[in-house]
Amino acid sequence: MKDAASGLSAQPAYTDSGDVVNYIDGRQVPSTGARRQAVYNPSTGQVARHVALSTIEDVNAAVAAAKAAAPAWADTPPLRRARILNRFLALMNQHTDELAAMITAEHGKVFTDAQGEVARGIDIIEFACGIPQLLKGDFTEQVSNGIDNWTMRQPLGVVAGITPFNFPCMVPCWMFPVAIAAGNTFILKPSERDPSASLFMARLLKEAGLPDGVFNVVQGDKAVVDALLEHQDVAALSFVGSTPIAQYIYERGAHFGKRVQALGGAKNHMVIMPDANIERTVDALVGAAYGSAGERCMAISVAVLVGDVGRKIIPALIERARTLKVKDGMHLDAEMGPVVTKDALQRIENYIAIGVEEGAELLVDGRNFTVPGHENGFYVGGTLFDKVTPDMRIYKEEIFGPVLACVHVDDLGAAVDLVNRHEFGNGVSCFTSDGHTAREFARRIQVGMVGINVPIPVPMAWHGFGGWKRSLFGDMHSYGEEGVRFYTKQKSVMQRWPENISKGNEFIMPTMS
Ligand code: NAD
Repeated sequence: MKDAASGLSAQPAYTDSGDVVNYIDGRQVPSTGARRQAVYNPSTGQVARHVALSTIEDVNAAVAAAKAAAPAWADTPPLRRARILNRFLALMNQHTDELAAMITAEHGKVFTDAQGEVARGIDIIEFACGIPQLLKGDFTEQVSNGIDNWTMRQPLGVVAGITPFNFPCMVPCWMFPVAIAAGNTFILKPSERDPSASLFMARLLKEAGLPDGVFNVVQGDKAVVDALLEHQDVAALSFVGSTPIAQYIYERGAHFGKRVQALGGAKNHMVIMPDANIERTVDALVGAAYGSAGERCMAISVAVLVGDVGRKIIPALIERARTLKVKDGMHLDAEMGPVVTKDALQRIENYIAIGVEEGAELLVDGRNFTVPGHENGFYVGGTLFDKVTPDMRIYKEEIFGPVLACVHVDDLGAAVDLVNRHEFGNGVSCFTSDGHTAREFARRIQVGMVGINVPIPVPMAWHGFGGWKRSLFGDMHSYGEEGVRFYTKQKSVMQRWPENISKGNEFIMPTMS
């Protein structure tokens, strides 16, 4: 696909066989099995290529390569590891547009949004380049007479990441740059719906000088995930995806004695106070609800309209939802592209029908939406519901599409209670001009990532990403210092020299002397 407006090619440059294959020990290798799955261009609805659905043998080969590479990589001085990542960082900056076009071609999101995704992934690589500082241990001199105590952080060994379709570059970048900077070797299992970005990044890592076996990719589905969960040489698993699978990964991973961080689904609210700046709030809300066709774990899917603010907001929202520029993502003026697959399209349209049956007021209906010239594309128009109540499925469940539900409450307290009762706690935002309201909101809300007049508060690379409640299973957030802790284990060393070893047997619990 080539868009005349942009002149950018969306052909994936690094999947040369037509099938998207594995990347093991520094080489692209086909799967040992015959199963494969179609990868679509969501804008045309056509099959663009196929991805291998790998076997247990493929997983075993990747783990063996990662295990063989692990000792030398763990022994490589952190500064040397950081220098390789620095070269990777430069290559990612150089190839951002190619990677973004590849993402648009398989995911459907608009090209400028895909560029933004790559940029946010690059932020984490940049953070990981600071690994010598991040791995610095603690030291206490003279904890007892002649004894010093220090801690160091050491890599876990072979670790794996399982990622969702909605950020085929950024979410893997939440994981592997930090993991490999910390001295681990890594196996990525990307989403089978948009798998090409993983191979592109593997090639760039090799070009940057990463030793073979340190970064590997195994394409596939549940069979690969289960093999990684059960493999005794995989020390830790990072997962990002839907809540039922996150819970499964967390429970199975724990059963097999692994360290697990599993980030799940979301239903993010934007609380709009009567004192909010209406025009800017509407701009922020429309972008957060319909950007990337609502296929973001931080998308706003519920607008909580406090007091009489709905009277001013709703007419503007109707107008904006109706006039969204929905088109092929390679058109640079597109505001929203297609959703990822036909299944996703049907699921979203089904939810819209459920909302109508449940009695919500459908103000803008995005069903049966077509884009001229792309009649078979997986397009849904921006959809707006009013008078949504907390007992409705369209309020409770994650739709993961361009569907915004408006709920009305009387005051801030009721808004906070509503958000806090929801099973998910990924992101939330509050739009207000009042500092006290903002402060109280941020303190009282039971959600992991909070925006004050910021609609999509994805934390910066050095702050770490993670929701609360059923949006995250595990203890540690992704990237940032928690990411470094997740991918390392702490070792404490107590040391004294022979001159300070006391004479005679010591049978009591050692205490400070
Ligand atoms: P998904 O759960 O269907 O798939 C995620 C990964 O799990 C994929 O690699 C997939 O192959 C694998 N998988 C799917 N079914 C499996 C099974 N039964 N057993 C083992 N592995 C399985 O998610 P998705 O549709 O790709 O992505 C969308 C979801 O991800 C949404 O729920 C969204 O909220 C969530 N998400 C969350 C975050 C976050 O940070 N919390 C970020 C991005 C996306």
